[in-house]
Amino acid sequence: MPQSTFFGGVHPFDGKDMSKEKPIKTIFPRGDMVYPLKQHIGAPAVPIVKPGDPVLTGQMIARADGDLSAAVHATVSGTVIRIGPHLLADGSEQECIVIHNDGRFHEIFYPQARSLEQLNAATIIESVRDAGVVGMGGAGLPAHIKLETENPRRIDYCIANCVECEPYLTSDYRRMVENPAKVINGLRIEMKIFSRARGILAVDERCSDVSRLFRDLTRDDPRIYVRRLRSKYPQGAERQLIYALTGRTLNAAMLPSDIGCSVSNVDTLVAINQAVMVHEPLLTRIVTVSGDAAAEPRNFRVRIGMSVRELLERAGGFSQPPALILDGGPMTGTRIDNLDVPVTKLTSAIVALRKDRCGAYRETPCTRCGRCVRACPNHLVPMQLYEDLLRKRDDLFLRHGGLECSGCGCCSYTCPSRMQLSYRIYSRRTALIRDPERAGIYARRLSTQ
Ligand code: SF4
Ligand code: SF4
Repeated sequence: MPQSTFFGGVHPFDGKDMSKEKPIKTIFPRGDMVYPLKQHIGAPAVPIVKPGDPVLTGQMIARADGDLSAAVHATVSGTVIRIGPHLLADGSEQECIVIHNDGRFHEIFYPQARSLEQLNAATIIESVRDAGVVGMGGAGLPAHIKLETENPRRIDYCIANCVECEPYLTSDYRRMVENPAKVINGLRIEMKIFSRARGILAVDERCSDVSRLFRDLTRDDPRIYVRRLRSKYPQGAERQLIYALTGRTLNAAMLPSDIGCSVSNVDTLVAINQAVMVHEPLLTRIVTVSGDAAAEPRNFRVRIGMSVRELLERAGGFSQPPALILDGGPMTGTRIDNLDVPVTKLTSAIVALRKDRCGAYRETPCTRCGRCVRACPNHLVPMQLYEDLLRKRDDLFLRHGGLECSGCGCCSYTCPSRMQLSYRIYSRRTALIRDPERAGIYARRLSTQ
């Protein structure tokens, strides 16, 4: 069986066995809920409730502000307590709606379910927009934006990104094993819009059970096929995924639609299915709680807005004091210093690690070994970019392609001198891309970031 892949990449310890085989467990929150108005790329949503208002589960509490924005919905019933700044997992403070959870989960009335045959492009886009669905693979692009491509007939490949390459994360795997029909139906809904496209379910080579399931369920659909990809990090990153599947190349200034591709991750496809078929807004997501300091690593269906502290307590707490708690996985996640922050639409995992997995290493000078160059999936020379940063030479950083960095972490992972390459290069890239004059053609991509 042929498998495709990309240049570079690394093979970190993946820790997936800790949580992979345990079924998803649903958690109903008991505490108050916090809803950031910006859980997506684009303008923050605008509150349509005020303190004292009663709310129901599924009720819209903030509307999208323009096209590049996403609505926010209450995921519990209760009363709005306040609207104001609240701490988030990345350490920033942001405007949030805080709701007292009455613990009853009274729901709004949902209209009758629809069938795939009843759908047209306008209905699909409107449903996805109203449901506040965003790209849940980390990007946070409102999902209706991808579906509103100027010429949908120019999309050749509609790709379901089922490659969960970040270590420890198994939420997509459990989704695929437990709800494969919803994933496939989400892809079929997208393909109603991209009517010329072929559908690809891209699966990691190690998930042969998932490949089999998908093949069985798509046997009668000649437009959809399953592709197995080599197990390597970051195989699930947009540029590496598209290249491995189609041979088409994308730079950081381009959008997948420029080269005839549309990519959605597993949870996003399920959210699209729920929004379009049963009118359900984005209320829950699957979160992996794992790491060697987590007492009972497992996947949980969590209501967006629940506190990370409550999630960890209800997940069994810690087996020993963690040295590091991450929002996301160890390659691209961010450190959480305060657990009183909400789970958002973009929270894929909470990973708690012991000291011996994340000890502080002393950085030593570069040995010119070239490992970072061989590992960089975007064909950069990280040691050169690092030097440009040390010399404060933004002109050289730009000339050496620094804006192509995706922050994947491969260079830092592979560096024997323990240099913080990825963090520093990607931080500078993020700062530069926000300056339209310096960003040049990359500014276009910023409009969707
Ligand atoms: S973090 Fe940036 S420079 Fe480092 S390997 Fe990834 S893309 Fe290359
Ligand atoms: S991997 Fe580290 S030591 Fe080797 S060339 Fe790159 S920066 Fe230098």
